[in-house]
Amino acid sequence: MKYCGVINRYKKYLPVSKKTPIITINEGNTPLIFANKVSAVLGKKFRVYLKYEGLNPTGSFKDRGMTMAISKAVESKSAAVICASTGNTSASAAAFSARSDLKCIVVLPEGAIAMGKLAQAMIHNARVIAIKGNFDDALDIVKDISENYPVTMVNSINPYRIEGQKTASFEIADYFGDAPHFHSLPVGNAGNITAYWKGYKEYYSYRKISRLPQMLGFQASGAAPIVKGYPIKKPETIATAIRIGNPASWQKAIEAKEESEGLIGMVTDNQILAAYKFLAKEEGVFCEPASAASIAGLFKLNKSGYFSRVKGKEIIITCTLTGHGLKDPKIAISCIKPPPVVPAKTRAVVKAAGI
Ligand SMILES: *Cc1c(COP(=O)(O)O)cnc(C)c1O
Repeated sequence: MKYCGVINRYKKYLPVSKKTPIITINEGNTPLIFANKVSAVLGKKFRVYLKYEGLNPTGSFKDRGMTMAISKAVESKSAAVICASTGNTSASAAAFSARSDLKCIVVLPEGAIAMGKLAQAMIHNARVIAIKGNFDDALDIVKDISENYPVTMVNSINPYRIEGQKTASFEIADYFGDAPHFHSLPVGNAGNITAYWKGYKEYYSYRKISRLPQMLGFQASGAAPIVKGYPIKKPETIATAIRIGNPASWQKAIEAKEESEGLIGMVTDNQILAAYKFLAKEEGVFCEPASAASIAGLFKLNKSGYFSRVKGKEIIITCTLTGHGLKDPKIAISCIKPPPVVPAKTRAVVKAAGI
């Protein structure tokens, strides 16, 4: 059967009807990659899989939610959409808007957006506005505008975003024929952990899976309001996609943690970068720093003995790698030693290559 995006594949479980115009760029259907070396770190009985969401059409999981949000905006005859963004939401909103002739307005924190993401919003013809403030300020402004002007907000508080994003759980469950035992992912605004948990619960209620996973969410330690229990005024982390001090879906994230008997923890920027480099160097998978928080979290829990209490012959852990590494090449280059420059001579290259 030909694949045409997450709405088409999962429309049975989504709030769409025959009248909904489906705006798709064939998002979803991303690979689950077995992570041999990450698994080995945890131990023999663990099988860790990477849900590589960086392979979505705009390079992040945001496309799953955006196909729903934009399709519903078109169905309701909206003329324009607006979002605040740490980058990937705007890239995705801009692309899906371009496809549907909606005007797209994006409000970004000045200087805090990875280059690739900014390039995407611009080339897809969004009206990009940078503010002298952070993401949380941008979100407040966007909420204010969407309440008072005829524009549809497509941040993850838009319930259709969550609906689309829950399809990632469906794909994982369909792949294994059941839920994983644990699901790890980064937490910023907490829309994605909310969506995954909703997806797993729905599949469970339809008896498509026999168990529910424990949800493991990870914030960056400089932007960890849920872990600390209070909003962070000036969130700081190299993982710009999760640099959020006051998550929109805070309460839902706590529910996901509690209902699943999982946890929401935090990892330092150094731990995030170590996991980011590990994935690239040992697994051949390039994700953005925020995405690596899911693996950094696993490594941290493993060190603390969290997994040694887990019973069972084979434990399946899925980790969402939320975005592609190419979004932010600057950070990759800045954390690796620069390459040598040698004379244009075979001998010099052979020597430098260590052959
Ligand atoms: C949006 C985003 C996140 C955070 O997801 P939330 O739903 O806000 O928790 C993490 N990583 C990447 C790459 C993102 O684009």
